[in-house]
Amino acid sequence: MEIICPLCNGLKKSNQICSNCNIPMKDTGPIENYFDEYSPYLDKSITQFLNSENPEICVHLFKCESCGRDERISISKEFH
Ligand SMILES: [Zn+2]
Ligand SMILES: [Zn+2]
Repeated sequence: MEIICPLCNGLKKSNQICSNCNIPMKDTGPIENYFDEYSPYLDKSITQFLNSENPEICVHLFKCESCGRDERISISKEFH
């Protein structure tokens, strides 16, 4: 048994809806990956803080491709 994020592992799809457009938002992945990908030189202490603060939560960044709105959603990890 290990605790994993169902979204990161493709077990579930999120149905986060943009409150502006009423269309599904795109899951751009966990926020720590987002930081890694787009800000390679960013101080990692922020993401480490997030992880240690809530080891059972995976924070995903959702983006609406229509209006550009983004939202951080906390995903509860599950045992598998
Ligand atoms: Zn995740
Ligand atoms: Zn939108």
